[in-house]
Amino acid sequence: MEYRIFPHSGLKVSTIGIGSGSVHESDAKQTIELIDYAQEQGINLIDMATSYPEPWKHYGAALKGRRDQFHLQMHLGITYETGEYSRNYTLESIKRSFENQMEITGSDYADIAVFHCVDTPEDYNKLMDGGAFDYAIKFKRDGIIRNLGIATHTVEIANRFIATGEMDAFMFSINPAYDFDPAANDPYGEDSKTRSGIAVSQDRQKLFQDCVRLGIRINVMKAYGGGKLLEAKTSPFGRAMSIPQCLKYALDRPAVASCMVGVRNKQDLVEATRLYTATEKELDYSFISKIQPKEMRGACVYCNHCMPCPVGIDIGQTHKFFDLYLAGDEIAKEHYYAMSKNAGDCIQCGICESRCPFGVAVREKMQAACATL
Ligand code: SF4
Ligand code: SF4
Repeated sequence: MEYRIFPHSGLKVSTIGIGSGSVHESDAKQTIELIDYAQEQGINLIDMATSYPEPWKHYGAALKGRRDQFHLQMHLGITYETGEYSRNYTLESIKRSFENQMEITGSDYADIAVFHCVDTPEDYNKLMDGGAFDYAIKFKRDGIIRNLGIATHTVEIANRFIATGEMDAFMFSINPAYDFDPAANDPYGEDSKTRSGIAVSQDRQKLFQDCVRLGIRINVMKAYGGGKLLEAKTSPFGRAMSIPQCLKYALDRPAVASCMVGVRNKQDLVEATRLYTATEKELDYSFISKIQPKEMRGACVYCNHCMPCPVGIDIGQTHKFFDLYLAGDEIAKEHYYAMSKNAGDCIQCGICESRCPFGVAVREKMQAACATL
């Protein structure tokens, strides 16, 4: 097993961790098998963001007597108070949820605690103004939270939290479909048809480098793009990437500590550990950099070069959450509805389509998202 260190605390995490969005497909016994396998392999990091409440209890039972062998990434702002997954950033809800995660897992500390899926300035303001951020800082000072961070999908929000000077850890979505932009300078008009290729998004690259400089480490979510990258028919690159290629890609980004791979059961984790036995050739993902935008016609890479939208829809995020939902990510639906505007607000003006370098049928996709979600 390979390990990486969080500089502020010395926390040593395995480069593969357990992401829990689909782990409800395992019952209590299968969860024990999953954790047994993780321990055998030296996988020591578990994320606590689950789509349903039951897996917390299963983890609690599976970790009995070996809590200290694992590092738990707990979530502040996740709740199941209505019986279903939702986010709640009120101080009272965050306290209840955090205490619950600690009690169920037999913990008196959190190795990592992240504010759960903070994606908008409104989310940020709720945490800052409602007392939740100060509550977490106090626990950090007392040593109960050993690394504090946020889970987010957006660079802007990550940068806002970096500015607090209190960040140790991010949970951030990273994969090639999220990282690449068209390579040419002018993102609009005819020029898009003659682009020389795709390039790493400068905003994202800067975020990764800032994290390196400041000692913040990133645990990756969505390394497979919600499964979209694993099949040629759904990948924006027109060919499938393998699981080891996706994981290698994410682990090669600066500041990345671990990939929290979404697992349903032990077998999914076994698949992920193929990373460590794959040959150099099997891990090579360099074909991505040679792809021309015209080869990616029709598939959204969430770059937002089609913006601004006259009614204020975040087109890239809308596509991203819709695609994740279609791939079976239940939590993505809630994130979709948390946006101030969504597909139902689309007036079908088509301006975005004239700007998109990848020929995405945005209007059609908005109608589909509206009908499905
Ligand atoms: S639709 Fe917008 S976000 Fe999607 S690929 Fe085209 S420009 Fe990028
Ligand atoms: S077609 Fe819809 S999503 Fe695109 S710019 Fe117009 S309103 Fe916005």
